[in-house]
Amino acid sequence: MARAQIVWYRRDLRVRDHPALHEAVASGAPVVPVFAVDPALTDGPAASGPRAAFLAASLADLDDALRERGARLIVRHGDPVDVLPALAREVDAAVVRWTADAAPFGRRRDERVRAALEGAGIDAVADPGQYVVDPTAVETQNGTPYTVFGPFRRRWEDAGRGPIHDAPQRIDPTADVGGEALPTAKDLGQTKDRPDVSDPIAAGGETEGLAAARRWLDSPIAHYADRHDRLAGGTSELSPHLRWGTISSRWLEARARRLSGEGPLAFVRQLAWRDFFAHVYRHHPEDRHREHQARYRDLAWEDDPEGLDAWQTGQTGFPLVDAGMRQLATTGWIHNRARMVVGSFLTKDLHVDWRHGERHFLRWLLDGEPVQNDGNWQWIASVGVDPKPYFQRLFNPTRQQQRFDPDGEYVRRWVPELERVPDKLLAEPWRMSDEQQQAAACVIGKDYPDRIVDHAEQREVAAARYREAGES
Ligand SMILES: Cc1cc2nc3c(=O)[nH]c(=O)nc-3n(C[C@H](O)[C@H](O)[C@H](O)COP(=O)(O)OP(=O)(O)OC[C@H]3O[C@@H](n4cnc5c(N)ncnc54)[C@H](O)[C@@H]3O)c2cc1C
Repeated sequence: MARAQIVWYRRDLRVRDHPALHEAVASGAPVVPVFAVDPALTDGPAASGPRAAFLAASLADLDDALRERGARLIVRHGDPVDVLPALAREVDAAVVRWTADAAPFGRRRDERVRAALEGAGIDAVADPGQYVVDPTAVETQNGTPYTVFGPFRRRWEDAGRGPIHDAPQRIDPTADVGGEALPTAKDLGQTKDRPDVSDPIAAGGETEGLAAARRWLDSPIAHYADRHDRLAGGTSELSPHLRWGTISSRWLEARARRLSGEGPLAFVRQLAWRDFFAHVYRHHPEDRHREHQARYRDLAWEDDPEGLDAWQTGQTGFPLVDAGMRQLATTGWIHNRARMVVGSFLTKDLHVDWRHGERHFLRWLLDGEPVQNDGNWQWIASVGVDPKPYFQRLFNPTRQQQRFDPDGEYVRRWVPELERVPDKLLAEPWRMSDEQQQAAACVIGKDYPDRIVDHAEQREVAAARYREAGES
């Protein structure tokens, strides 16, 4: 009988369209699916209360799906560099497979695990499956990586896609392999200081992910091109499932492409952003936490703990900024347009280092992942790849609100103090007269904060700082 194959699960928590699982099952060997609870993740800088809960639910769902097929999820605690070779020896595995990672931390870890396995005479195989297109499969004509999205996407459109695999019907397990109980959110990093959110936008697991994706593909996707910037809703909200691999991005793209119309096309284009940032950090791991554009590495940032606190808690006096930050703290997710506005506000109105925003997002976002988060923060701070002049990403929060939440549905939902403020003043409540404040039961400075900065003034300050850094 063929020697066992181990499938090491990480953030690919599904049985459908999972190339590593597919290959292991197709080999005819007994298969050992394993998840290693790695203290570097559960206690490290990327630990997050909301994501711990999502992960715990996803692992439980994965275990159910594996059991339905005859196997189960083996759980081990410890550094994967110790866990995987030990398990391989225990079950006499010839191969350990996993889904290739593009993130700097993941790649370093995987190389350490590969060396340990190969040192013990065990094969290590990284299969595709995390992205629509393998991050190394797209390159410029000179063979160099892309740093601008438009040309990347055009090449990405033509790149080959691997076959999409159904879930295996049956998985031949290895008898006699012991594992620990499925981890709880607490085992995965949730603590009193790193709590969950009260109303998560999505629950973990492939069952949930698939149902959400089917609902999205069934009809709302048709309106994506017109509605994706609408703050009150209009996007798929599938990012947590894509982040954890509880749905396959390859499958999702293929399904969207089967549909006609501008909505599905625009949605597919958006999936390319995720592959773009994976591509960027696959080739530029040194960009993590460091400005891609060298000229902005000495940009002057402000040390402003009060401003940072007002931003984090949604108390800046700018309704759209506060709505976005409160949506994050309550649901573990923010609409993309609001992410851009709060990101611009932190870096260009408060002049606070984008790394503070990046860390705060990583703590709360269900879809938070270092590569996408870092790439997007650098993008909005105008210091990263895909360069556009800083003033093109210097958003006026008042105008953004008037444009993308014209009837105030989003802002009133997240900032209930403003419920009775008339539409025409909702984006600038500080302009209300005393009588208007009384009539709206919203006294500025008492019921809702006065704006902490003047955007027109801070815009000039930001412009001067970027100009100076860019010219030096
Ligand atoms: C400051 C900032 C930080 C961000 N941090 C993250 C993060 O940690 N993780 C994350 O997945 N996204 C991040 N994004 C990108 C984007 O905001 C989210 O992917 C999107 O809002 C998720 O909502 P959705 O699933 O409804 O997206 P949809 O509009 O339905 O798009 C479909 C999918 O395309 C991908 N996508 C869309 N826009 C982007 C983008 N700009 N970059 C990368 N992928 C994209 C996502 O996987 C998304 O689920 C960030 C954006 C900003 C401005």
